Amino acid sequence: MQLSYRCFKTGKKIANRLALPYLLKHVYTHGSDEVIRRGKKIHSIGFVELVEHDYLFSSITFRVKDDTYSTFYKVYVQNYKDYKNLSLRCACPYNLGDICRHQAAALMRLQEMIDKGMLQENEVQYDQHHTGF
Ligand SMILES: [Zn+2]
Repeated sequence: MQLSYRCFKTGKKIANRLALPYLLKHVYTHGSDEVIRRGKKIHSIGFVELVEHDYLFSSITFRVKDDTYSTFYKVYVQNYKDYKNLSLRCACPYNLGDICRHQAAALMRLQEMIDKGMLQENEVQYDQHHTGF
C-alpha cells in the first residue's frame, strides 16, 4: 500500500493528507476476531457501497450487505478525519459490542478510498490527472 506520493511536476504532496491508518487501527482495536474476519470478507466481496459523502463535515454513509443474510444495513461514519471525535453507527441488531462487522467493513472500505485519493475535496481537482487513468 502506497501511503504517500508527490506530484512529479510540482513536488506537492498529494492524496495523503487524508491517509489515516487509524481507521484500520480502530477496527483492530475494537473488533473481535470474528468481527474483523467477517468485516474483511464483506469488504473483499465488495458488499460496501458508498451512499453519501460530505467532505466538509467529514461524514460518510455506506450501504453494507451482510455476509450471511441478504440484508443491507446503513453505516454512518462521522468525523472520519478527526479520530478523537470519530463516530460510528450501524443500523443492524448485532451492534452490541464496540464495533460490528458492517462497521468494520465500512471502515476498511473508507480507508481504501482515502488511500486511493477517492475522497478529495473539490478544490484539489487539478490533481486529477494522477488518477484519471
Ligand atoms: Zn452492523
